Amino acid sequence: MTSNSTASEVASQSGDQSEEPAQRTAIRQLNHAAEHLDVHPNIVERLKHPAHVHEVNIPLVRDDGTLDVYTGYRVQHDSVRGPYKGGLRYHPAVTREECIGLSMWMTWKCAVMDLPFGGAKGGVVVDPKDLSEVELERLTRRFTEEIRGAIGPNKDIPAPDMGTDARVMAWLMDAYSMQEGETMPGVVTGKPPVIGGSEGREEAPGRSVALITREACEYYDYPLEQTTIAVQGFGSVGANAARLLDDWGATVVAISDVNGAAYDPGGIPVHEIPSHDEEPEAVTEYANTHAENVITNEELLELDVDVLIPAAIGNVLTEANADDVRAAMIVEGANGPTTSTADTIFEERGIPVVPDILANAGGVTVSYFEWLQDINRRSWSLERVHRELEAEMTAAWEAVRTAVDERDVTWRDAAYMVALDRVGRAHDARGIWP
Ligand code: GLU
Repeated sequence: MTSNSTASEVASQSGDQSEEPAQRTAIRQLNHAAEHLDVHPNIVERLKHPAHVHEVNIPLVRDDGTLDVYTGYRVQHDSVRGPYKGGLRYHPAVTREECIGLSMWMTWKCAVMDLPFGGAKGGVVVDPKDLSEVELERLTRRFTEEIRGAIGPNKDIPAPDMGTDARVMAWLMDAYSMQEGETMPGVVTGKPPVIGGSEGREEAPGRSVALITREACEYYDYPLEQTTIAVQGFGSVGANAARLLDDWGATVVAISDVNGAAYDPGGIPVHEIPSHDEEPEAVTEYANTHAENVITNEELLELDVDVLIPAAIGNVLTEANADDVRAAMIVEGANGPTTSTADTIFEERGIPVVPDILANAGGVTVSYFEWLQDINRRSWSLERVHRELEAEMTAAWEAVRTAVDERDVTWRDAAYMVALDRVGRAHDARGIWP
């Protein structure tokens, strides 16, 4: 298992001054939302605890013949509405607490989107950049074997998250299928389309961030053509969101990667810059050769823009910088970028924060489409995926917007209320066994 120093090193690299475990944030958010809702306290109590926490040790023979052991987790939070669903993260800062918090967010994310899934999350404490491709494949196959009893197409369906991709999902599907003795594409989503993955899955979280930003701008009367946007993180989520918003007329004035940020008040040609996944050096190269201003990630968060989209990692908007944020609104692209203290500061300052469980839910929504395609053994066109995703995102936005307007609560509380109401009623109907 990773040492604490590794986890805090990563946190300090991200500029985080007041790290708050995702689990604590998730429980605080749940308590906060429950105050506004008529959900039985027994159900709230139950939802503060994950149903299962699987912890495994994964032996890996390195290419040089030595053996390393990595710790992996699969946390299953709640399955009252359907099979557990959520990503797998390969990152040195993965912890049990983080997986629990992230699994809780998946429960709300699936419920706010009205998908027939519960919430799960998992990961391995590893920096995938330290492994060769074959080591990564061996690690993935053995991890799959270690959690094989816990996952399955009707039980728990993993997907990509930080540090994992379609290739990793393909190895997982293959390892699972080999051991089960039949090809089972529905055990995982985010696979390559050639083996049952969905068109449009990779860009889906960024697309939903863009769609929700568009709705939020309309709600607050910011015509996209006159809206300036800063995007922290130019990975898959940030780059896809930035490019779509650019297509729709908005001006993306700042982007960043882990090494730093570029700020061009006149607009950044986001289509011409490869994402961090496509070309890890691209943002730095753009910043050093073309950008008007080279700034830090911290400065990006404090720019005077209309919309700030934190789309990199968790815990970047904290007590330490929330007072200095000058954006008119925040749309969360990453999972958990805002600590609960920062959330309170934004609420007091009247800065709306559209939460992750709504904004980046396009990923799990297209995962649901992928799962349906796998069950039916029939693939959808990209055009259909886009159309159905837009319909799902608009419906979820409307449900949350209605709660905001009717109950006069924050966007996060409203999203939690929509989700918790659905999960709570399902628990109420099913009761507790035995
Ligand atoms: N890892 C993604 C998320 O955080 C997607 C999960 C999924 O598709 O199951 O929403």
